[in-house]
Amino acid sequence: MCPYMSDIEDNINKKFIHGLDIHDLSQALLEVGCSPGTELKLAVWIYRKRIFRTGAMSNMNKSCRRLLDEHFSLEPVWPISVSESTDGSKKYLFRFHGNRYAEAALIPSGKRLTLCISSQAGCQMGCSFCQTASHGFHGQLSHQEIVSQLAGIPECSRVTHVVVMGMGEPFNNLDAVLKALDVFAAPWGFAIGKRNITVSTVGFSEKLERFILSSPYNLAVSLHSPFSIQRQELMPVEKIAPIESVVALLRQHPILKPRRLSFEYLLLSGVNNTQQHAVAVAGMLKGLRCHVNLIPFNWFPGSLYKPPSDAEVQLFRDQLAGCGVTTTIRNSRGADIEAACGLLAARRFQDVE
Ligand code: SF4
Repeated sequence: MCPYMSDIEDNINKKFIHGLDIHDLSQALLEVGCSPGTELKLAVWIYRKRIFRTGAMSNMNKSCRRLLDEHFSLEPVWPISVSESTDGSKKYLFRFHGNRYAEAALIPSGKRLTLCISSQAGCQMGCSFCQTASHGFHGQLSHQEIVSQLAGIPECSRVTHVVVMGMGEPFNNLDAVLKALDVFAAPWGFAIGKRNITVSTVGFSEKLERFILSSPYNLAVSLHSPFSIQRQELMPVEKIAPIESVVALLRQHPILKPRRLSFEYLLLSGVNNTQQHAVAVAGMLKGLRCHVNLIPFNWFPGSLYKPPSDAEVQLFRDQLAGCGVTTTIRNSRGADIEAACGLLAARRFQDVE
């Protein structure tokens, strides 16, 4: 049996409370008769110290520990498998109730340890370059399931950055995503700096406005082409939420310092990396305080697209720089462990389909 498999049998009749915020924890504990204030102590044990056995919770009295044991499952959902790349990145696969699978990828880089998490099991957005898209949508993830993707991995306490950029479109599950991120950022939670948390979206106007106005996190928008017809082919969402309108909204409600705005640009060889693309990207983003991340495409079996060569990546970066656009090249990581978006989970969806 996989060492990460959660003990489902043991916890079957207990309420799963790992991942709740302090308000919901307080409600749950008061309902079973714990004294007020227990929620803060419990949050520190299960989120900060990662202690799930009540016997070790030395600042709790006996009756409180008994109530916790009787009513609650305190552990997160553990991953069912992990793959490790030769470049140091890892990919964790989670199975949630109802055969919903989701992945989290851990990416070390210098002093940074970034965790890329999923917001949904599968995705409805249908991007033509994405493996997750070809296996459809299998359900939302609750905020507790999103929290488990951090809480359930052995490196949890060393993670410095979180990006919501795995499977799913975060704005299609925004309430759960924001609730989970608030647990990540809270001092009683995982205490990850708000400036180290980024949500990546294809962009929907009304939800974008809500995100900008009501959350403290960084924003990354998937651009991938400045030309509407081509972007529709790559990302069908362009038909209902054109990138022009997303950029217009960002001009109306700028992301102010210290938050950061970036645009993700997946480089597909011979498709979206011409001089015309560079000029049009520069024109579209002119005057906006932002950064462009160039991401060379990670090939997967059956894909219509080819990864760009190093020379193509450099050339496109230089063309953008020549037009005044600041870029970073995000090298593909974990190709040997199928780290392209949704590959591991896609395999599991095939198994259950
Ligand atoms: S790229 Fe992201 S938004 Fe598009 S289909 Fe894949 S998971 Fe969904």
